[in-house]
Amino acid sequence: MSRSIDLAVVPGDGIGQEVVAQGLKVLTAVLPQDVKLETKEYDLGAKRWHRTGETLPDAELEALKNHDAILLGAIGDPSVPSGVLERGLLLKLRFAFDHFINLRPSRLFPNTATPLAIRDEQRGAIDFVVVREGTEGPYTGNGGSLRTGTPAEVATEVSVNTAYGVERVVRDAFERADARPRKKLTLVHKNNVLVYAGHLWKNIFDKVAQEYPDVTTDYLHVDAATIFFVTQPERFDVIVTDNLFGDILTDLAAAVTGGIGLAASGNINPTGAFPSMFEPVHGSAPDIAGTGKADPTATILSVALLLRHLGYDAEAARIEDAVSADLAERDGTFRTTDQIGDALAVRVAS
Ligand code: ATP
Ligand code: MG
Repeated sequence: MSRSIDLAVVPGDGIGQEVVAQGLKVLTAVLPQDVKLETKEYDLGAKRWHRTGETLPDAELEALKNHDAILLGAIGDPSVPSGVLERGLLLKLRFAFDHFINLRPSRLFPNTATPLAIRDEQRGAIDFVVVREGTEGPYTGNGGSLRTGTPAEVATEVSVNTAYGVERVVRDAFERADARPRKKLTLVHKNNVLVYAGHLWKNIFDKVAQEYPDVTTDYLHVDAATIFFVTQPERFDVIVTDNLFGDILTDLAAAVTGGIGLAASGNINPTGAFPSMFEPVHGSAPDIAGTGKADPTATILSVALLLRHLGYDAEAARIEDAVSADLAERDGTFRTTDQIGDALAVRVAS
């Protein structure tokens, strides 16, 4: 295992700056003395676009390739037209670095608000991870509009599903399920209606399942899955699903397990050919930027995912345990962004 981490840091916009500072604080505190941490900050996002008109120039894309991983705060501001930063920066990066795994864990921590009516013993059992495909489905930009703007307009948005793309995400999900204590993997799709894509997914899932006899498998249509996310979230362990279903399900998962201030994510290329990128699920939250109200926990938990991806499993677990212990002892009084970061940095260091 490498004993140095060369990290690209993209604080981005709004609360991105504030939460990334706390993520780095906890990262520095958790790393053993002999691990050398180097960071390089990249100025990308709304301010840069206003100043120069650039989103992600090729020279910076090239430079980013040389790091071990990327930590991102949040990108976006209402002053930038919708789609400019999403397509020009976030999706550009995802496709260039072939981030075919979008990983989003959901765990119901102690003392966190949930809209679910649950018993205490269920709380510990709500602990699942969604493995969302990141480069295919309806996100490839394959489609178009005919007779645009007329009453006869026809728009298509083609969902692209390749055997190669589906097999690699399904294999990754089986690996992750096999490494967890419960070893359960649920495929979510809609193969009763989306028959071509759905059967490709189901057939590959069933084929790969043969190689993982210890993993219990299950299949759910996406509409049924949304019901179970609310009524029986404890039934899930690892879920694998397509890009669009995964987008919707993971927001629902964040909502039922304590909200946006706690939801971490990773855009991962497990081959290691390109750096993977870790970021909180939430956006730049301009409404609370600069007020000290932003909860940095989602970013700190994203740092844990980053560490696990780089092979620092013990340090990742220390961060997750610190978050859990910290929330368990919380008396409900308000804490600022800094105070939460400080408290977690102290816990992981001890
Ligand atoms: P984007 O389009 O960038 O995803 P969004 O419109 O989904 O942005 P967010 O920036 O995620 O919006 O914020 C949604 C709401 O949640 C806002 O009211 C914001 O203040 C709140 N919020 C987001 N992140 C946090 C956080 N870390 N701590 C506390 N509140 C947050
Ligand atoms: Mg959002």
